[in-house]
Amino acid sequence: FPEGRKCSGCGVKLQNEDANKPGYLPVQALEREPVICQRCFRIKNYNESSSVTVEQDEFLRLLSQIGEKDALVIHIVDIFDFEGSVIGGLQRFVGTNPVLLAVNKIDLLPKVTNWNKLLNWVQKQAKELGLRTQDIIFCSAKQNKGFDRLLEAVEQYRGDRDVYVVGATNVGKSTLINRLIRDYSDLDQELTTSRYPGTTLDMVNIPLDDGQYIIDTPGIMYPSRYSELIGPKDLSVIMADKPLKPIVYQLNEGQTLYFGGFGRFDFIQGDHQSFTCFVSGKMPIHRTKLERADELFEKHAGEMLSPPNRDEISKLPAWTRHEFRIPRGSRSDIFISGLGWIKVNGESGAVVAVHVPKGIKVLLRPSLI
Ligand code: GDP
Repeated sequence: FPEGRKCSGCGVKLQNEDANKPGYLPVQALEREPVICQRCFRIKNYNESSSVTVEQDEFLRLLSQIGEKDALVIHIVDIFDFEGSVIGGLQRFVGTNPVLLAVNKIDLLPKVTNWNKLLNWVQKQAKELGLRTQDIIFCSAKQNKGFDRLLEAVEQYRGDRDVYVVGATNVGKSTLINRLIRDYSDLDQELTTSRYPGTTLDMVNIPLDDGQYIIDTPGIMYPSRYSELIGPKDLSVIMADKPLKPIVYQLNEGQTLYFGGFGRFDFIQGDHQSFTCFVSGKMPIHRTKLERADELFEKHAGEMLSPPNRDEISKLPAWTRHEFRIPRGSRSDIFISGLGWIKVNGESGAVVAVHVPKGIKVLLRPSLI
């Protein structure tokens, strides 16, 4: 395999080792002219962008390059995993460039969602997380919703800037990019070479009908999300794919809910009250007594408490415990990155704990819904 050769599409250094990393090219494709990486090939020939991923450090280097340009940034996040998919340091890196926050997968929210309230929530949370946003757009790449609004916003803010699309893995970035390609691009034109030849990051420039570009960046991997820890089979259970049907549990203190064998929620102290689980419809929930919870897991992890199966559970990091004191009168969610959230409905306060594999982001936040 020729060392150091670059993709004549995006300029990334070609490699033959990892099909999920930028610059991958099967050996036999070296015979094709022009020599372009598999990703560019797919975009060019099948109008289909596939996701490549990079580690956080590499991604931050890429972001700082965007900071030096005059750019419009589309930051895609997943409403089901909002805090898990937000790129925390984004503002520091993109400088004064405007950012559109595209909140994707809104098809997952219950039918009765109050959109104004949701918008307020997103604005507040974004601010809390240090993001300045020019505009917030709700969309569903799956249902093709919100794209007109997104494109309008792009028109409104980009001037003569290029548009960079950034997002964590699994937020729906490829699905979104593919829609944009299908609806707006002119692929008779050649894919142009990256502005950053020699970087190890591939950014694919997608020409639009009017001569501007949308630039797809690699998805950033956050190991703090279940989606990065589990296999595809378990992912299809944990990831909601239909509108969430919240499940309400009336609990007394000293009760525990198991979410398959992925994690558990303990109601430790407080008045009898209800907790609403916003998790994938395929997630089996098992209620038990807190005092029996450890024993139950020891005996039944991977069987009654599954998925994941025994084998998969043994590959996950050991669990850690996160305890929260929910103040009286607060409207809060216990958020578990990738799994969903549990809304605390009681007004009288509570002490709860969550047990999940080490590294998974768990936090207390104001209620989303
Ligand atoms: P990427 O890693 O950000 O490029 O994400 P993909 O586009 O590959 O999507 C990741 C997963 O999310 C796939 O299973 C998609 O089907 C799903 N997905 C993408 N967009 C949406 C959406 O708007 N709604 C829902 N429910 N799922 C979506």
